[in-house]
Amino acid sequence: MSAWFPPFAILRHLVAVYAPRTCASCDATIPENHVFCTGCVVTIERVPAHHNDADVYAPYVHGGAMALAVQRLKYEGRGDLGAPLGELLAAALLPAPATLAGEVDFVVPIPSTPARLAERGRNPAAQLARPIAERLGRPMIVDALLRAETTRQATRSGQERRRGMLGVFRASTTKVQNARILLVDDVVTTGATLAAATDALYTGGACSIHACALTRAI
Ligand SMILES: [Zn+2]
Repeated sequence: MSAWFPPFAILRHLVAVYAPRTCASCDATIPENHVFCTGCVVTIERVPAHHNDADVYAPYVHGGAMALAVQRLKYEGRGDLGAPLGELLAAALLPAPATLAGEVDFVVPIPSTPARLAERGRNPAAQLARPIAERLGRPMIVDALLRAETTRQATRSGQERRRGMLGVFRASTTKVQNARILLVDDVVTTGATLAAATDALYTGGACSIHACALTRAI
């Protein structure tokens, strides 16, 4: 290393000065290793155990500062929030990473629609999934699952959403054959999206699927 190169500790200090950590919801300055400020964190609720069915694990209620942070990640160009929010999901999902790592070959994010991907240039679910894959020590495979274009889901009823999701996903049989997969999404509302993706992966030959999302609308 060159003599002029500042030691790591000084670099960290400079990074902190010029890029202060800010709250994922309101942009207040927060200490390192925090995701939300003290004012926002009190609005965040864990999903009660009885709401977490066997099919999908989602640790946080889709409300308060957490919902706002997801909104910013998905619709307001805040791709930088993907990593810290993904870390929160990973921490909730993996109190014992070795256990789940033993049951998962790779991580698959729910793909964005082609139009959304073109518009954003990124997939928020993949941004959430990356820290989980890293903690598990397993790869993330973004093209194991392909998604066709569909109409917007946000205003449709549960039944319409389930009908609308039929045939939306297609799995890459070469990638998912006999695989044990952890599927990751941002928000679970009716569960229609994750159910359709799970069906497609099983049809493609996957042998087991765990599914999770950061928040659940309850
Ligand atoms: Zn805040």
